[in-house]
This record gives sequence, structure tokens and C-alpha cells, in this order.
Amino acid sequence: MVNTVITENQKLLVEHLTPLHLSKRNRDYQQISLYKDVNPLDWEDWHWQIKNRITKFEEIAQVVNLIPEEEEGIKNAKGRMAMAITPYWATLIDPDDPSCPIRRQCVPTLNEFKIGPHEMVDPCGEDSHSPAPHLVHRYPDRVLLLATESCATYCRHCTRRRLVGQEESRDNSANRWDAAVEYIRSNKKIRDVLISGGDPFVLENAVLEDLLKKLRTIPHIELLRIGTRVPVTLPQRVSENLISVLKKYAPLWISIHFNHPKEITKRTRIACEMLADAGMPLGSQTVLLKGINDRPSIMRKLMHELLKLRVRPYYIYQCDLVRGTHHFRTHVDAGISIIEKLRGHTSGYGVPTYVIDSPGGGGKIPVGPNYILSEAKGKYVLRNYEGKVYTYFE
Ligand SMILES: *Cc1c(COP(=O)(O)O)cnc(C)c1O
Repeated sequence: MVNTVITENQKLLVEHLTPLHLSKRNRDYQQISLYKDVNPLDWEDWHWQIKNRITKFEEIAQVVNLIPEEEEGIKNAKGRMAMAITPYWATLIDPDDPSCPIRRQCVPTLNEFKIGPHEMVDPCGEDSHSPAPHLVHRYPDRVLLLATESCATYCRHCTRRRLVGQEESRDNSANRWDAAVEYIRSNKKIRDVLISGGDPFVLENAVLEDLLKKLRTIPHIELLRIGTRVPVTLPQRVSENLISVLKKYAPLWISIHFNHPKEITKRTRIACEMLADAGMPLGSQTVLLKGINDRPSIMRKLMHELLKLRVRPYYIYQCDLVRGTHHFRTHVDAGISIIEKLRGHTSGYGVPTYVIDSPGGGGKIPVGPNYILSEAKGKYVLRNYEGKVYTYFE
């Protein structure tokens, strides 16, 4: 067992959690033969979750009734973007439904090995906009720092599958970010650093703090952001210790990758509440995925659930043209029609911006319904969310 200090609070959490984190749809982990003897304190220990991730065919086969498409996908995924699923996330999978939104996001299928037209290894041209290792500089005042190549669970639609999931080729040296930090220090226009990966929250607290501290010594850095999926795939990671590290480096904005209402369990709710209570603004980034969240009713439900968690929906992404994701990609129309059915129909805070991250590296471009019917000599003819027409004179 990994030697981790379990705080009093985590013990309390465990007492409250069994079976509080379960909704009707989820299985209690003790119902799954692979986990039936796991101690609840181990289950709540994020190191245990990481160490016991499902990476092998024999393991996933004990949790999911695999179909041939998946069996072949898992066997072929070795050496490409590997499969890794936290036991926690595995409990959310419907074992009998291959179209389960949780399952489709984490279990490889043969579809990943069919390369669709226009698909690329690095669809957003990140490698060609990299002035230092682990750094992408696309916009004038902000940068993207790829802090690690690991995630708790690998998403099959990952846009950075060229980088992530090859655990053996990781650069773990203490000075791995030095060139990136020096680049940011010497470029006074940069006021915002987005730390992503991989998932920065799989780094140990001391490592993450080292990076945050280095960035905070740069006077022109106004805000830091962390892009993560850990509150969704490994909520146990959001411990008091992590919170106490993060609080020191405010203002720190957290962007969480949420794709489906089924991901919002009571356990995830606790993780988000801990972050929000500690004063961190929370946003959500959602990838539009065929058969998973491309119905307006599902997106609306997701947005409503996020607002209840104090998570502000930020972006919906058109699924990037990354190799092997053809089966996840919708028409652009599907995204526009989702925004059409949100804007005006529900709380404005629940309406994210739908964007296409431009192929080749032009940044995120918003696309959405057109509300301007005509515009001439200061006369704007507009339509509202119900289709009624209004005229505005400048
Ligand atoms: C998304 C992204 C950012 C941040 O963009 P915002 O619109 O400010 O959230 C910065 N750099 C890169 C390379 C990005 O892909």
C-alpha cells in the first residue's frame, strides 16, 4: 500500500461517503468483484486510485462486459495512447451498455485506428508554436504550459494523444520547466499562464507547488489557471492538503473538463465544493462528442448541474481533428444548435461559448447562431431566442 497520510477530514468523508457518493445508476465499488475487499480508506486515497488504475485487458474485463470492438481496441491501444482508468471512474461505467457515455470516453475501440479525412497528429499546431519545452505561446498575453504528460484517466477523444499516456518517456527532472519559466519571465506581455497537460493535479503537491511558486515570482503574471479533469476522474485527489497549496497562489482559476451529467456524482460535488469554498473560480470545458453529449437536452442538463456546483460553463469545443477521433466528431451544426437551444432559454451563466480551435494553430474561434438579420446605416435588424424580430437604431 502507498504510504499516505489520511487526514481526519478524509476519515470523516469516508464515513459519510459510503454509500453517499452513489447515485442510483452507479455501482458501489464493493459490488465489483475486483474491488470488493478494498478498504474505504484506501479507496479514498488518491495514490491508491492511481496505483490501481485499470490498464490491462484482464482488469477491464472484470468490470465491463466487453464487446469485440472494445476487445480489439484495448489490445491495439498498447504503445499508442494507453488505457488507464481510475477505479473510481470505473464504478461509473455501465457494464452492459457499450454506448454508456462514461465507458465510451475511456475504453478504447477499433474506431481509434481508423484515420478520418483531415485528421492530424497535432491538430492545433501546438508543437509549431512552442518557444520552449512544455510551452505553447499562441496569444499575445497568455501561454499554455504543459506541466505533465500523465492524467488520472485517459480520454479516448484526447487532443494531445501525441503526448500523453506514454508513461515511460516522461521528463521528471526538477528543472524541466526552467526554460519555460525563463521565457515567461523575459516576456513582459504575458499576464496569464494556463497550466495544463496531461493533468497538473496528478503531480505531487510539492512538485505542483514548486511550479506555482516559480510562476508567482514573475511580477507581470496576474493570474494562473489550471486545466484539470481530476475532480471528475479522481475527486479523491482534491484533499485539504492540495487546497492549502492552491490557496497560496490566488488568483487561481480552475477549468474542469466535464462532458456528461453522469460524471457529476456526490463525490465530484464534494471536490468542487472544496475548491469553490477555498475561493477558486471554477469553469468547465466540454468537448462536443457524438452520441455522448450532442443532444441539446443532455447539454442543458449538464449546464444546469454545473451551475449548481458553482462551475461556470466556459467553452464547448468542437472535437479537434486529432487522428483516430472521427467516431466522436459531430457536424458543426450540432454545436450551433445546442447554443441556440441554451441562449435565452436558460440562465445566461449556463451558456458557454462554442469554439473551434483552428486547425494549424490560429486559436479558438467562436461559432454560434447568428442573431443579426441585417445591418445598414445604423439600423440593426435582430432576432431574439424565440425568432421574433426587433430593430435597433444606433
Ligand atoms: C485555449 C488556449 C489558451 C487560453 O485561451 P482562453 O480563450 O484565454 O481561455 C491559451 N493558449 C493556448 C495555446 C490555448 O490553446
